Amino acid sequence: MDASSTDRSLRRELAAPPDLHEHERDLRQSVWRGWRRRCPACGTGPMMKGYLSVRDTCTVCGEELHHQRADDGPAWLTIIVVGHLMAPLLGLAYMRFRPDPMVLSAVFAIGTVALSLWLLPRFKGLMVGFQWAKRMHGFATELPERAQEGA
Ligand SMILES: [Zn+2]
Repeated sequence: MDASSTDRSLRRELAAPPDLHEHERDLRQSVWRGWRRRCPACGTGPMMKGYLSVRDTCTVCGEELHHQRADDGPAWLTIIVVGHLMAPLLGLAYMRFRPDPMVLSAVFAIGTVALSLWLLPRFKGLMVGFQWAKRMHGFATELPERAQEGA
């Protein structure tokens, strides 16, 4: 290869740089699919096989979901949201209505537990969707053909 052919191939590469965003996954879409506890790739297959257990693979598209590493993240997100919502509401309810302490504690205990149980699997799905979209952990090992199918 002489200098002019190297120069020509370099010029060709500069004219048409590889599209780095060609196989980029839609973050907003996959996070929303995760929040709905659906497979981040196809949006139809159920992500969970129980209350919080993520399936190894999607039952619809076969996407591997076992790469997820949500760990304690969903629990921390739930604590942050429920705590910041319920603490001011507790103060507001007390100042506004002055309920019987037993009624106030019963309502807020049930409300806090119910909201936490509702949010926890959704935050887990959201985190798995985020990890999938950002190709974190093992989610990066996907063939380009599959990325186009999942879009
Ligand atoms: Zn799927």
